Amino acid sequence: MSTHIPFVDLKAQYQGIREEIDAAVSAVISETAFIGGKYVKQFEDGFAAAYGVSHVVSCANGTDSLYIIMKALGIGPGDEVITVANSWISSSETISQTGARPAFVDIDPLYWSMDENLLEAAITPATKAVIAVHLQGQMANIERIAEICAAKGIHLIEDCAQSHFSTFKGKKAGLFGIAGSFSFYPGKNLGAYGDAGAIITNDAALAERCRMFANHGALVKHQHKIEGINSRLDGIQAAVLSVKLKYIAKWTAQRQTAATWYNEALAGIEGIVLPVVRPDTEHTFHLYVIRAQRREALMEHLRNEGIDTAIHYPTPLPLMEAYQYLGYSAGDFPVSAGMMHEILSLPMYPELSREAVERVAAAIRSFYAN
Ligand SMILES: *Cc1c(COP(=O)(O)O)cnc(C)c1O
Repeated sequence: MSTHIPFVDLKAQYQGIREEIDAAVSAVISETAFIGGKYVKQFEDGFAAAYGVSHVVSCANGTDSLYIIMKALGIGPGDEVITVANSWISSSETISQTGARPAFVDIDPLYWSMDENLLEAAITPATKAVIAVHLQGQMANIERIAEICAAKGIHLIEDCAQSHFSTFKGKKAGLFGIAGSFSFYPGKNLGAYGDAGAIITNDAALAERCRMFANHGALVKHQHKIEGINSRLDGIQAAVLSVKLKYIAKWTAQRQTAATWYNEALAGIEGIVLPVVRPDTEHTFHLYVIRAQRREALMEHLRNEGIDTAIHYPTPLPLMEAYQYLGYSAGDFPVSAGMMHEILSLPMYPELSREAVERVAAAIRSFYAN
């Protein structure tokens, strides 16, 4: 019986940095620096330096970060915000939370990102912003999307929850629009040991409004200029993230290497389509997604071989029950709706071994040989 190959392996990562993590966490506890304070500031400064951005505003998670950006931009009832049909629900539910109405653009059939050729037609006089999502670690055609937004005078927000340090023509995800939104959920490429998130921007005034809104509408204690929310990064998460930030470049390179192993080992299998990296971009492989015929049976076959897989995502956002009221049908999003039955995320994490990748590939090959 061969060993189990998990979808992600956070234990393996912890084993590699255990002493540093344990020391960092225990420092926070012994100093009782639980909320805000030194460790949060340290991480914000460290992430700003590593990312090459002027302002990092940390918050509780990568859903709040989207909501905070939109609130700070004054988006609300009567407005419309466009995002992509294939994403996690944070990309759209936060639009509704502001009182605005979500609208969706289909993905393109090759890179599986927001189809920039469909964006212009989706923009209406009510459109205030576009939330582009760099899903899987793959950049959307953000240069073109930014051009369209600029021409129409609408804000561009980037959801970078799956694309820490991904680049397009050398420029990092999150630096193309007015602000970038990050999640540090444990399984993300840069992950805390609980919920955590951040906003990045080069706009000082926007950064200040985000910081104020995330902190009950106050920049100075008890001076509430507006009503806000409580969305804070805690000291323990910040300390964990500061340790992990030192390794992110190495871990990203390991993911990219694992992706090349998959590409080699899966080449030529009839029945699957491999991911294509957009030219002039760096894909950071948060996920390694293939398209697979007879996907459910393949998943079952892999499960029997001790290999975990996942689907990101089984239902396009506009076709979810939550958005029934918008009246969309599958025909409105033919690419997303067509692919939802085929996409399959294979095990992917920095510590994934070549041997494990080859086992996954062999299992897939044997499935299609029968
Ligand atoms: C994970 C994720 C989020 C939300 O992040 P949380 O920290 O879990 O709130 C938002 N958008 C995308 C695309 C994600 O993958």
